[in-house]
Amino acid sequence: MLLEPLQCTLADGVKLSEVTFVVVDLETTGGSPTDHAITEIGAVTYRGGERLSAFQSLVDPRQPIPPYVAHLTGIDDLLVTGAPEIHHVLPSFLEFARGAIFVGHNASFDFGFLNANLLRLDYDPLEGPPICTARLARRVVWPDVPNVRLATLARYFRTRTIPVHRALADAEATAEVLNGLIELGGRLGITSLGDLREACTARGRPNFGKIRLADLLPRSPGVYLFEDRSGRVLYVGKAVDLRARVRSYFYGDERKKVQDLLGAVQHVRGIPTPNGEAEALVLEARLIARHEPPFNAHGKRWRRYAYVKIDPAEAWPRLKVVRTASADDGCSYLGPFSSSAGARQAKDAIEDVFRIRRCTRSMGVRTRFAPCALADMGRCLAPCDGRTGSEGYGELVGTLVSALGEPADLLAKLEARMDGLAAHERFEEAALARDRLRSVAGSLRRLRIDRWLTAGRLILRGAAGERLELIGGALARGGEPAPEPIGSPVPRERADELAAIRSWISRHPTRVELCEVPPSEPVDGGAALARILSALRESGRTPGGRPKGGR
Ligand code: SF4
Repeated sequence: MLLEPLQCTLADGVKLSEVTFVVVDLETTGGSPTDHAITEIGAVTYRGGERLSAFQSLVDPRQPIPPYVAHLTGIDDLLVTGAPEIHHVLPSFLEFARGAIFVGHNASFDFGFLNANLLRLDYDPLEGPPICTARLARRVVWPDVPNVRLATLARYFRTRTIPVHRALADAEATAEVLNGLIELGGRLGITSLGDLREACTARGRPNFGKIRLADLLPRSPGVYLFEDRSGRVLYVGKAVDLRARVRSYFYGDERKKVQDLLGAVQHVRGIPTPNGEAEALVLEARLIARHEPPFNAHGKRWRRYAYVKIDPAEAWPRLKVVRTASADDGCSYLGPFSSSAGARQAKDAIEDVFRIRRCTRSMGVRTRFAPCALADMGRCLAPCDGRTGSEGYGELVGTLVSALGEPADLLAKLEARMDGLAAHERFEEAALARDRLRSVAGSLRRLRIDRWLTAGRLILRGAAGERLELIGGALARGGEPAPEPIGSPVPRERADELAAIRSWISRHPTRVELCEVPPSEPVDGGAALARILSALRESGRTPGGRPKGGR
């Protein structure tokens, strides 16, 4: 019996070659830790494939050994007569196994039996989870072996020791199987203790072999693409550690969608992003918009984006919700909004303040027809019946277009309307006005930032040294041709790209190193925008400052 103290770090990142394992096997009088007792403990320690020491002791179970157990193991009542009882054996075993990672074949049995005895004798339980060679074999050598019984695996790995249902022999055989599995597992990327633990708990066996697709990925930040046999991009994601992230898909993520993805994937491509998270966020958004991967929940989200548009060149302009925006059609745009519903809210808000026509009927310069109720309510200038001429209507449109750039007046009116409704206890209408105000204010804020980001060349430096060079809002990447500028209004298919930059800037201290077109702040409405958005963000704030649901 060797009592060499063994220590190894339990950190999951430690290399397997540096981990000390204690491989344990028990013989018992039966299968229940509460009703049956240990008759023999066998254990060996290994590190880096090298056998270090062994432990073996018969144990007097203080209960009869059933004949079928005696027949199977060769351990009968006579053999254990005079052997130490478990309370004499456990301290020695604990000293032997101290600091090592517990391994067993069907480890939960041995682990559970030992812990039940330890607890009964007022010892601390063994630290888990144990490494199970049977589970590991299912990940590593399936389906090359018909089953994962110890005898089968011992034959597969041609172990020197043949398992014979005696504790030490079986522990020796298990240890050799463990070494074989670790060697084969290296090709699957199982190189650390964490990998080994994950492989033992991993489910989704049919696709586990594909974990090799991650072998060539770097352990650096970047974007990964899952591709099928024809090279079609199935999924795009970003990660701080590309290899670890991709491998994690194969470790027990049982969601059907993930299993479908793993079933279809044939290649995994990684694109490192030297500028860290910001670059990864932008690249991910760019690639998702370009490939519309079927397994990305938001792959086609940008197709739902919408704008509020006004075309001053029309005879009697009106606000419209549209899906596309053009930089050179002379129109003014607000957005993109994440949905046409959001765009409609903003449109309604602006129409609450400006008495612009809302009817969708086509109107030429001389078109005349009977007005609707909005005219009598004073909420439309009613060019339809000629009560407002083109000059007066054009003035209104001009003011509206200006308000999108300098919105102080627009915001003040919307806020006053919301507060006025609340003051008159018209809370539902006030809540509606609040939602509309939020939609407009949020959009105006994004519009301002986007105009700055998309105007000319801009170089930003993050606190961790990240360098982002934007050309017309598009991130330039080292070694790639200059990107096509995004420009303003932001095309909906590139809105997420710009949103990624906005999001990153808002969460990280950023220094401007170069700015071809300086930001135009402070400008009219900037302070109002900040104040209103801050107030609307406050949880529980409702129009008029009343708590939600208050009446
Ligand atoms: S008042 Fe006339 S122009 Fe205005 S919304 Fe009604 S129908 Fe259209």
